[in-house]
Amino acid sequence: MMRRILVAGLLATAVVAMPQAVSAQASAQASPRETAAIRAQASLTALRKHEERMIAIGDRMLRAAGAAGWCDASQSLGWTLGELGQYPKELRQHVRTVWNLPDGAVLFVSAVAPDGAAARAGIRAGTGIALLDGMQPMRNHLQEPSRHALANSERLIDEALARGPLSIEAIDSAGVRSTIALTGELACASRFELSAEDEEQAYADGSLVQVTAGMGRYTDGRDDELAGVIAHEIAHNMLRHIPRSQEAGTPNDYRRYLGRYARISRKMEEEADRLAVWLLAVAGYDPEAPLRFWQRFGPNNDSAHPFGRLHDPWRTRVASIQDELAIMRAAKAVDPDARPALLEQRNADDTPVGPSPAPR
Ligand SMILES: [Zn+2]
Repeated sequence: MMRRILVAGLLATAVVAMPQAVSAQASAQASPRETAAIRAQASLTALRKHEERMIAIGDRMLRAAGAAGWCDASQSLGWTLGELGQYPKELRQHVRTVWNLPDGAVLFVSAVAPDGAAARAGIRAGTGIALLDGMQPMRNHLQEPSRHALANSERLIDEALARGPLSIEAIDSAGVRSTIALTGELACASRFELSAEDEEQAYADGSLVQVTAGMGRYTDGRDDELAGVIAHEIAHNMLRHIPRSQEAGTPNDYRRYLGRYARISRKMEEEADRLAVWLLAVAGYDPEAPLRFWQRFGPNNDSAHPFGRLHDPWRTRVASIQDELAIMRAAKAVDPDARPALLEQRNADDTPVGPSPAPR
């Protein structure tokens, strides 16, 4: 799926409400306040686990695609960051506990890819960052959760890495400070974020890939299937689907617009399904994993949008994926380093020719 993500406050809504298997015994013996703490920490622990899976899988794919020359590669540290101010105020202490943050840390490393650049420099989830390029990272002073300060730090990091190594002052869980010069690894660009939503979803907004906690649970123990979900979203970003759908413009007639939008959306969804097969293969994941995912997920999640289908029915999607698997295998039989022809679509003009069909 693709949508423009309204990131700020995503974590505000759902963490506390996230249903988690909290021990009934613990609940029975604990005060309401303690029960709330147990529940919040169980939710955050689950978020942390799925975030680690996400960055491990996602960064591996971005590096493999970057190494294959499938994008204008930029520098990846293979980490996701967190900032206390992105969480609701009542959760911030629990975040400190679950990530075992050092005293005073506000910006911290939330998850690392085990074989990424940050991990190789000795950085772990829960490492605090006191200085970025010699400057104190911005913090969110508001009561309200906001991703604004975190986004500011992410931008500074990208700018610094484009110039050379990034210098950080890290604080480990024992409070020991060290200055580390970080060099990124070439990778295609996308950021990752786990949202606390229960619904089994994933989104791309052009630069960010977001997977929900619900999707993390649904694919628990099935990393290849999660890789398929993430590959589809990375494909949306690599193929510039958000800017392309905006460039396609909006006609005056609302009904025509919706019908046309649905048509462009289905085309882009199919492109993302097809490129995902290649991304899985280049990173060493099973390219057939999306077939297994859709056999499980499709029958219960095949709803049409009220103003037209934004995705093809799941069986149609499975047929496209099978078709692309055959295309890829034939291409690789000729050239093991074959690149997906779909990449040339990233600059395609999506302005449809002729009248748009009425929305269904
Ligand atoms: Zn999609």
